[in-house]
Amino acid sequence: MQTTKLSNQSILPLTCSRSGTCCFGKVVMLNPWELLSFSKEKKISPREFRDLYSDFGGIQLKFNGATDNKGQHACSQYVDGFGCSVHLGRPLACRLYPLGRQIQNNEALYIYQGDHFPCLNDCSEVLELPKLSVGEYLKGQEADEFEKAQDEYLKVMQNIADIAFELLLESGLSASGDKKTLPLWRKMANELPEELAKRIGEEWIDCLMLPVIVDEINNSILFAQKHNELIVLKAQKQFKNLKTAQEFHEASVLIMGVALHLARGLGANQITIAEHWIATAKQYGAQE
Ligand code: SF4
Repeated sequence: MQTTKLSNQSILPLTCSRSGTCCFGKVVMLNPWELLSFSKEKKISPREFRDLYSDFGGIQLKFNGATDNKGQHACSQYVDGFGCSVHLGRPLACRLYPLGRQIQNNEALYIYQGDHFPCLNDCSEVLELPKLSVGEYLKGQEADEFEKAQDEYLKVMQNIADIAFELLLESGLSASGDKKTLPLWRKMANELPEELAKRIGEEWIDCLMLPVIVDEINNSILFAQKHNELIVLKAQKQFKNLKTAQEFHEASVLIMGVALHLARGLGANQITIAEHWIATAKQYGAQE
């Protein structure tokens, strides 16, 4: 399918009509900041929101509501006749829709699949609405803080992966001739989200999706940075007494699994990312 790229200044052929037809049959991935944002709007704890309305430890919003005339389920937050029940707390994917977003050379590019917007099919009333630039559209959607969260969590993802690299490359594990760690990095990237969540275990899933941060909850960059510190501290504590090659191998696999689970929650292609990390590790002498 054709992918169309747009700059911030490109003119969109629509503005959102908020009729809610985009709230059916979609896959909406979540990062920890978005989980927090939802829970604030819903006035429940992030854990309660996670357990009630998301899957795979919190990285995917449940779409288990009533079906539309195409048989597609509504988002768990969609209320018939009203629309989104958590509009102010909705995640970036909902703010961008029908656009996707890619970072290339440190610049955000906005994309959409196909040669015309799905909204033109699903919400014919948008034809009567004024046209906007992408920048104006995003401003209207108040996407800025959520874009910052997404970008900061991509850095957190890389930082977590760096711990897996250290455990493989700087512990003596790869120098000892280890050939089983990289295949497991690949295997995890190809696992179903429920399989990877199970492999990582509740404790690390909670650390990844439910960080206990009481300040910085209105600033997504500071929140993600604080979260990064908590993850690093946990890893340092858990991995500080490792001795055997088997222990370093297991630790490297575990923490890479956490990075890949976050990658999926960020809507990134975890298989491509894992292959990139495997190739990088090989450049530094790791084998498979
Ligand atoms: S969070 Fe709100 S806007 Fe997003 S899909 Fe669900 S109901 Fe729709």
